[in-house]
Parts: sequence; structure tokens; C-alpha cells
Amino acid sequence: MSLSVRQRRILADMGIPVWRARGPAPGHAGVAAVAANAPAVVEDSAPTPTVSEAVTPGTVEAPPQVAGVPVQALDWEGLEARVRACTACDELARERTRTVFGVGDRGARWLLVGEAPGAEEDRHGEPFVGRAGQLLDNMLQALGLDRSRDVFIANVLKCRPPGNRDPEPEEVRACRGFLDRQIELIQPEVIVALGRIAARELLDSDEPLGRLRGREHRYRGRPLIATFHPAYLLRKPGDKPRAWEDLLRARACLSSP
Ligand code: SF4
Repeated sequence: MSLSVRQRRILADMGIPVWRARGPAPGHAGVAAVAANAPAVVEDSAPTPTVSEAVTPGTVEAPPQVAGVPVQALDWEGLEARVRACTACDELARERTRTVFGVGDRGARWLLVGEAPGAEEDRHGEPFVGRAGQLLDNMLQALGLDRSRDVFIANVLKCRPPGNRDPEPEEVRACRGFLDRQIELIQPEVIVALGRIAARELLDSDEPLGRLRGREHRYRGRPLIATFHPAYLLRKPGDKPRAWEDLLRARACLSSP
């Protein structure tokens, strides 16, 4: 990928040094080089794998059916209304300010999937706002992408877990049908799982993120790349070059630039 001066400036501002690759590395076609001396700290402690392999997700729970029509038959408006009215998880439905359905282009080639809304997302009803959202926006901008135009951003869970705790497995199962329907409606060319929980859930894996990164997976036939959650990158900025490498890997999955 050739980067404009502006994109290079954005990356430099984020602390992500890049240089022009002389040629694609074996097994990483289209992935530009990042700083080779990036720190080795990762979101999970397992070593970063170097060999690509496909992972097939396992059986997914049936989606919630609140008002008769199955979730997998809903259009966008019906799906959004179903999520807004959902009370499948007692505690989350009681505590939330609003559901966080997702934002962006509903026909986007990129789908970014995070874990669950945080406090600010719960207030705004939009995923990835605040500092983590700003970092994500900057990384997207460096790829020439805009959150409102070129990507759709959603979470595995549509309601905030109180105290920002990890989602409970039964909450994830209850909400999963909504995300799956979004994926069916969007038909993205590539899915990027942001963080450990999104990656594990979409890949039906209990491997650490460090083992899920660095290779292309498949989710129902679509390429899926796992990378760090932006909130993690705020705590561990030394891993930004690795996240950038992941995004370039995702970009290389597209049928055309
Ligand atoms: S997290 Fe999902 S399944 Fe649970 S109440 Fe919210 S919208 Fe419904």
C-alpha cells in the first residue's frame, strides 16, 4: 500500500513508524512494513504466530426472537427496532442508557467488531467514541477510510455490561443473532475483530489474542483479521505498529484496493 504524505503524518502522530516496503514479505502479500523493533507486549501473553490458517467457527446459538419474526428475517429497520426493545439480558437491559446498534455504511466492505459498549458509548448510543474511538478513527484515516462512509462498526454485545465488566457467555449468546444478522445484511469483504473477546467469539476459540493475530481466518467464508482493541492500544502504545500491520493485512484481503 502506498501512503500519502498525510497518511504518513497521521501514523507518525500515532507513534507508528512506517517505511516503504521493497517488496511483500513471504506470506504477507500487500502488507506494508512496520517498525521491526516494536515492543513484544501483546493483549494476551501468547507469542505471535507466523503461520496463517483458517479457523471455522462452531455452532452459534439461535438468535433471540422477541416479536415473532426471526431475527434472521429482519431488515435493517426491523433489526434496529428489535435491538432497541430487547430485554433478553435482565441486568444489561435494566442498567443501559441506550442500546448501541452500530454505525457506518450498511453496505461497507469493512466491518469492525468490538466487544461491548463502554460508559461513553452507552451515553451516546454509538460504538467507539471517546479516546479509543479517536484512535480507531485515526487508524482508519491512515488507511484512507472514514467511519461514516467506508466501514460499519458494531459490537458483539449491544448493551453495556455494568462497570465495564467482561460480557457473560449467556449475554454473548443472547446477542449473537443481532451481529450475525448485521453481517448477513452488510456482506462485508473483510471483518476485523477488535480485541480478545470479539476475536474469540467470532472464531469460537479460546486461544489468546496473541495466537489469533498475524494470520487470516475465515468467518462463514469471509476473511477475518484479529487485532488489538483500541482501548488496549491506549494503554500499550508500543503495540500500535502491530495493530497497523493487522489493518494492512485486512486491507490485503479486499478484492481491490
Ligand atoms: S445485550 Fe443484546 S441480547 Fe442482551 S439485552 Fe442487550 S440487545 Fe438484548
